[in-house]
Amino acid sequence: MIRVQSVASDSLGGELGLVPGTELLAVNGRTLEDFLDWEFLTADERLLLAVRLPTGEEVEYDIERPEGLPMGVTLEPPRIRRCGNHCDFCFVDGNPDGLRTPLYIRDDDYRLSFRYGNFATLTNLKPWDMERIVAYRLSPLYVSVHATDPTIRRWLLRNPEAPDIVPQLGWFAGQGIAFHTQVVLVPGVNDGIELERTLGDLYGLGPAVLSVSVVPVALTEFSKHGLVRELTRDECRAALAAVDRMATRALAERGAPWCVGADDLYLQAGEPLPGPAWYGDFEQRENGVGAVRFLQTRIAAAVDRLPDLAGKRIGVVTGRAMGPLMPHVLADVAATTGGRFELVVVENTLFGPSVTTAGLLPGAAIERALTSRRDLDFALLPAEAVNDDLVFVDDVSADELAARVRVPLHLSYDFADVLTDCGLRISDCGLNLKTRTQSAIANPQSAIGEGQG
Ligand code: SF4
Repeated sequence: MIRVQSVASDSLGGELGLVPGTELLAVNGRTLEDFLDWEFLTADERLLLAVRLPTGEEVEYDIERPEGLPMGVTLEPPRIRRCGNHCDFCFVDGNPDGLRTPLYIRDDDYRLSFRYGNFATLTNLKPWDMERIVAYRLSPLYVSVHATDPTIRRWLLRNPEAPDIVPQLGWFAGQGIAFHTQVVLVPGVNDGIELERTLGDLYGLGPAVLSVSVVPVALTEFSKHGLVRELTRDECRAALAAVDRMATRALAERGAPWCVGADDLYLQAGEPLPGPAWYGDFEQRENGVGAVRFLQTRIAAAVDRLPDLAGKRIGVVTGRAMGPLMPHVLADVAATTGGRFELVVVENTLFGPSVTTAGLLPGAAIERALTSRRDLDFALLPAEAVNDDLVFVDDVSADELAARVRVPLHLSYDFADVLTDCGLRISDCGLNLKTRTQSAIANPQSAIGEGQG
């Protein structure tokens, strides 16, 4: 059963009289299980919709949708498929107390994989799910492979029931489903020859595997790990060498590198990032793969619309991971605008210093970093650090943060989004807490950085 959370006024849902709390029961006689059913079954122009209004009254609508009129219904967040694995490196298991409740949910949900690009392991699929993935053409999916050797993969996932991933992906590939994949690299387990084997096996599945990223395992101060450790610099370099070998082959044979290392892998190896063209359409940037080059590309694309910021001093808040990489980005935007961009690298006081991604920065740590700053005209905060309700991981809302510091704040994904909006009147903009683009169903996890799937 699915339920309406809100209804846009200029929409079909509004015209029908659907209101928050309405239960959506069936379309054309088919019971609605979740948002996928809702989206796919209401795509037709003609449909029979059965609902139960909050009053308890059951109504059936015979709908002929006027062309271009959206349904305009936002659903309550779906019940999330829980993960049945027990990875030693699971970020969720290592969360400290006091975070937003959804951060304690270990999701392994192919529906969120399709909708939001969350990585899933596909270890919990029932035959019904497999049929559904094919029937609804849920492609591409984002899949955590880690290792193609079944024994090693089961060890990493700590799930003796995990199916053999190569035949599983092969079956889906035969049905027209494609994948972006990732390998979370654990030294001494799936690196070295096992990494070569995994990359070779995935490559052997053909074009259905659209990309593979190699991501160094990240552990927090609170991780309950006892079996894994982080990579050394030399191990990162060896992994990048394997990635390069595979990418060189793919480039020669398929015209694209296909296999890419996470930005963090380059950072830990102390090696320069590849150029933007290496990352194609940046499909895995949310996974920290090509994120720096993506930012630079976005700034370059907006160059004609960026304002003159001469004489302005702008703080750019980020986590330690991007700290050493961000100067590349800031040099571009400073050269274009004439503004003085100053990096404010914030240590993660909640998870501990080993968690360096900007997406997990707590509001309290940002407050501490900015509280005495009166010299800045405004500051840009990483928009990926808040959820759809504009709340940081430690339950501090962006509004609360803005009220506590003296510097005007702007949430920004890529600099260009804020700077081009404000134009020359940047000093008048004040608080600019932009919401994310609202999707029909709010991502219950705001998945950035939550687990390594
Ligand atoms: S890392 Fe991902 S797959 Fe592993 S236990 Fe955590 S949520 Fe599950």
